[in-house]
Amino acid sequence: MKKLLVANWKMNKNGKECLEFIDSFKAKFSAKRDAWIAPQSVFVKLVINSGVPAGLQNCSEFIHGAYTGEVSARTFKEMDGHFVILGHSERRQYFQETSKNLNAKVKTALKEGLVVIYCIGETLAERESNQTLSIIGDQIHQGLNDLSEAHAENLVLAYEPVWAIGTGKTATPAQAQEVHAFIRAEMAKKFPSFGDKVRILYGGSVKPDNVEELLAQKDIDGGLVGGASLKASDFLALCGDK
Ligand code: PEP
Repeated sequence: MKKLLVANWKMNKNGKECLEFIDSFKAKFSAKRDAWIAPQSVFVKLVINSGVPAGLQNCSEFIHGAYTGEVSARTFKEMDGHFVILGHSERRQYFQETSKNLNAKVKTALKEGLVVIYCIGETLAERESNQTLSIIGDQIHQGLNDLSEAHAENLVLAYEPVWAIGTGKTATPAQAQEVHAFIRAEMAKKFPSFGDKVRILYGGSVKPDNVEELLAQKDIDGGLVGGASLKASDFLALCGDK
């Protein structure tokens, strides 16, 4: 399977900047690697129209109704949306999302036919007290509890150590590989028919100058990228297109 690079633009870029990025990106993108983009939700249509697989950065656990401010996975799928990022550490940190309450969103989005990129990762304090693998295990088992195997095939996991997001600190390839191998083993136990083939992305200060050594690791299938996805030339470099 091709390596997958996912741009998480967070709450950045206006409409003009989205269009400029897409033009520059498409002019040089060779599709050697897969590339997906999650803009602010008000601009998803611009990405969908460009033909680049488009994603949300969050969605509701509900499908429709009186839920002011929420975005529906069903509506997004109907407009040819492709994926949703769930459980990003910023959502966990600032919006009280937990693996337990994310489980409902994961189920809804998968049921509606979206690919779910489920984010997990430990804090610095958890790493320093040797809890990394138990935290990751809990996040997997709580967030992905009780999914049907058929729906779960549309899962992608993103390992994002919280201490590496937007800080310039990257996990070493060996640190990332150790956790990715653990995630793959847990997924294989949980979903015996396909769990070992699930794509597992690394996120946390991925940049053009460290991407190749990260992607060279056996269990790193791609990257979820914040800062370095904002400039088309950097994102192209991550996609292997200089
Ligand atoms: C992210 O927000 O998912 C992320 C990994 O950000 P950055 O690449 O800026 O560390």
